[in-house]
Amino acid sequence: VKQRFTHGAMKTGELALIERIRRRVKTSGVKEPELRLGIGDDCAILQPPAGHEVLVTTDFSLEARHFRRDRHPARSVGHRVLARGLSDLAAMGAEPLAAFLSLALPKDVAGDAVWVDGFLDGLLELAEACGVPLAGGDTSESPGDAVLADITLLGSAPIGTSLRRAGARAGDLLYCTGALGGAGAELESLMQKPAQFAEATVQEKHPHLFPQPRLGVGWLLRELGLASACIDMSDGLSTDLAHVCAASEVAAEVEWGKLPVSPLLRRSSPAARERAVLHGGEDYELLFTASADRRVPRRLAGVSLNCIGKIVVKKRGQPKVMLVDADGKRRPLEPAGWEHLR
Ligand SMILES: [Mg+2]
Repeated sequence: VKQRFTHGAMKTGELALIERIRRRVKTSGVKEPELRLGIGDDCAILQPPAGHEVLVTTDFSLEARHFRRDRHPARSVGHRVLARGLSDLAAMGAEPLAAFLSLALPKDVAGDAVWVDGFLDGLLELAEACGVPLAGGDTSESPGDAVLADITLLGSAPIGTSLRRAGARAGDLLYCTGALGGAGAELESLMQKPAQFAEATVQEKHPHLFPQPRLGVGWLLRELGLASACIDMSDGLSTDLAHVCAASEVAAEVEWGKLPVSPLLRRSSPAARERAVLHGGEDYELLFTASADRRVPRRLAGVSLNCIGKIVVKKRGQPKVMLVDADGKRRPLEPAGWEHLR
C-alpha cells in the first residue's frame, strides 16, 4: 500500500492538512502489535498474526452521493467513512489490522480547521473504539467542490475461517443484529432539516449519523462457528439477503412480524416504516444464517440477535426472497435498496 502523509512537493494547504492528520494520529493512541510501521515512511509495514490471512476492503464516501456537508456534521462524515469499511470486516468475522485513508478536499474545506478537526474527531474516535490504527493514506486538493474520501481497511482472520455470503443451506434459520430501519428514518428527518446535533449524544440513537460496526458479533460468530453465511446490511435487507441467496444458491422467507423495527420509526406511516425496514440500508447490522440445531443466543457482544425467517430450497422460476405478512399472506420481496441522497 502506497503510504503517504509524508512531505513531497506539496502546497502549503496540503502540508498543513497532512501535519494535522499526523499530529492527531500520533496522539490518538491506537497501538497494534501487528502494525510494525505506520505513518512516516513510503509504506506501512504490517505483520498479520501467525496462521492468519489478510482481508481487504475499500469504500468510497463521496459528497452529494453518500453525505451532504449541509446536513451531516463533519464528525459524522469521518465516523461513517471508517464505519463502512469496518462493517465489511465485521461481516466476515475479521479483526481490523489497519486503516488507510485517501482524502481529497476542496481548497476552502482543507483550510477550514473546524471541519477538518471534526472529520478527524469522528474517524479517530471510532478507530480508537475499535482498536484500528490509521496507518497511512494520501491527500489531494479536490478538483471540484466535493469532498472525496476513500478508505481501505485491512483485517485478519485464521486461515480459511472467514464468514462468507455462500454457505447458507435450506433449513437454516435467518438472523439479524440490532434493529432495522433506524438509519433510513434518521436520514429522512435529516433531509427535512439539518441535524441539531449535540456533541455528547448517545451514538446508538443515531444509526445513520453514527452507525456502529458489529465487529464483536462478527468475530464471535466466526470464533463459535455459529454462522453458515453472513453479510453486513449496507444496502438494505431486501438487497443484501438477495446477495446471500444468490451466493448460497438458496431462497429465503422473511417474517414481517419478527423483524426488529427501530424505535425511530415509531411515528412513521406504515408505508415509510416498511420501506425503511425492508429496503432502507446503511443500518450496518449483520445478517446471518445458522443451522437450525445450533442454539443462537439472544445477545452477542452486547448486541441483540433476532431470528427473522428461514432459508428454503431455491425453486426455478420462484422469487429468491418471500415476505410473510403478519396474517400469513406471502409476497415476493424484490431487492430495492434505494438511492440514498436522491
Ligand atoms: Mg458489505
